[in-house]
Amino acid sequence: MLWDDFLKSDYHDWRGSGHSEDFLDKPGWLEQWLAFHNLPYPGAPSAEELDELKRLRGHILRIVQKLTVRDSADPTNLEGLNRALSGGPMILRIADSDSEYRLESTPLQKGWPRIGAEVAASFGRLLAESDHSRLRICDNPDCKVVYYDETRNRSKRFCDDKACGNLMKVRRFRARQKAAKTGGSSIHGSSET
Ligand SMILES: [Zn+2]
Repeated sequence: MLWDDFLKSDYHDWRGSGHSEDFLDKPGWLEQWLAFHNLPYPGAPSAEELDELKRLRGHILRIVQKLTVRDSADPTNLEGLNRALSGGPMILRIADSDSEYRLESTPLQKGWPRIGAEVAASFGRLLAESDHSRLRICDNPDCKVVYYDETRNRSKRFCDDKACGNLMKVRRFRARQKAAKTGGSSIHGSSET
């Protein structure tokens, strides 16, 4: 989805090196992200446009943070989404090719405000039309990537079971080993006294 790839621009090394990077500052990343979602790259954003994109990212992230703890989204953040949406009004039209009808949307604006509106619309559609109680933040504290849990039993704890899931399994295993070596039994001892 457009919006969750957009959130991934705020990169934190999930392996725990402490390295973090804001990909929104990298025109190359923006270009690739938009190409992947079939959107035109409007050229490197101005400082103001970049601020606007980062604000939008913050609004989406704070809404997710609220919803994942079963709280309601803050009106300020919803207002931020609506502001981004107002940057890209669309014209809808029916297109016809051999009696196959499609509803096409053409943006009235070009440039970054339009991209911001597309991102806000993609997240807005999820809020309004999907089950937002399936939004998750990866359980790996070094990762915290946001994703949509599509598993049948809603039990997905990590953004990627092979990456973060395995890493956390190894960490838990090592922690248990260490506890056993340094007299882990004293933990039980002290809790019983
Ligand atoms: Zn993760």
